[in-house]
Amino acid sequence: MEVLRLIFNRGRRRLWTSGSSDKNKAMVEQLERCGIVQSKRVKEVMEAIDRGLFVPAGSGSPYHDSPMSIGYNATISAPHMHATCLELLEKHLQPGMRTLDVGSGTGYLTACFAMMVGPQGRVVGVEHIPELVSFSIDNIKRSAAAPLLDNGSLSMHAADGRQGWPEMAPYDAIHVGAAAPEIPQSLLDQLKPGGKLVIPVGTVFQELKVIDKNPDGSISVRDETSVRYVPLTSKAAQLKAY
Ligand code: SAH
Repeated sequence: MEVLRLIFNRGRRRLWTSGSSDKNKAMVEQLERCGIVQSKRVKEVMEAIDRGLFVPAGSGSPYHDSPMSIGYNATISAPHMHATCLELLEKHLQPGMRTLDVGSGTGYLTACFAMMVGPQGRVVGVEHIPELVSFSIDNIKRSAAAPLLDNGSLSMHAADGRQGWPEMAPYDAIHVGAAAPEIPQSLLDQLKPGGKLVIPVGTVFQELKVIDKNPDGSISVRDETSVRYVPLTSKAAQLKAY
């Protein structure tokens, strides 16, 4: 039995990168030198969550600043995009706060969110490809965020994220990891007054939009930067050419 387990584990190690905390730390330090990582908390969380544990092996170095394919016509975003979104949402990721991550893919950023809000907080990841949901859960279980999955403060779900996740609403922070043709009303509805939504919007040309719900319920929108994300769409449309 033990021998079988060893063989199985050896096989798994060949399938997925094993992660390297030194290289991960160097990646975060480089993002800090570029001014993309600015806050101490974002730095600590990106150092604690090893990106190498979230990337399929054979697709290049997980620590290079570029997006990588994760199958199913999806990608893990580049480290500088993850850092940018963590910095944009930092004040809305305080201990005890609630966060929704739509298009959670590998689970990397969802795990970072969970570390930011801690065991008293609540983070929900929604991803519409069930295989990616299983993949993300396996990844998180091997990461520093595993206890947060165990205690229920972090949960991952297979569903259409365009509807958000009303069960846990309202949220202090909502992040969307895929580009929507327009800002989904359901996500605005699930944002707390005082909450912040970060979402790429557009088709060919996309802008990362930062949306604040003001205390009176009105909305302020600004463009942060031009981006290129996979579309927030139906499962059938995403898998059509796969
Ligand atoms: N933040 C993730 C991004 C993954 S790419 C990461 O860095 O790992 C975007 C993800 O959005 C893909 O996994 C894709 O399957 C998912 N997606 C696209 N449309 C969706 C929808 N309607 N509902 C839920 N997930 C969606």
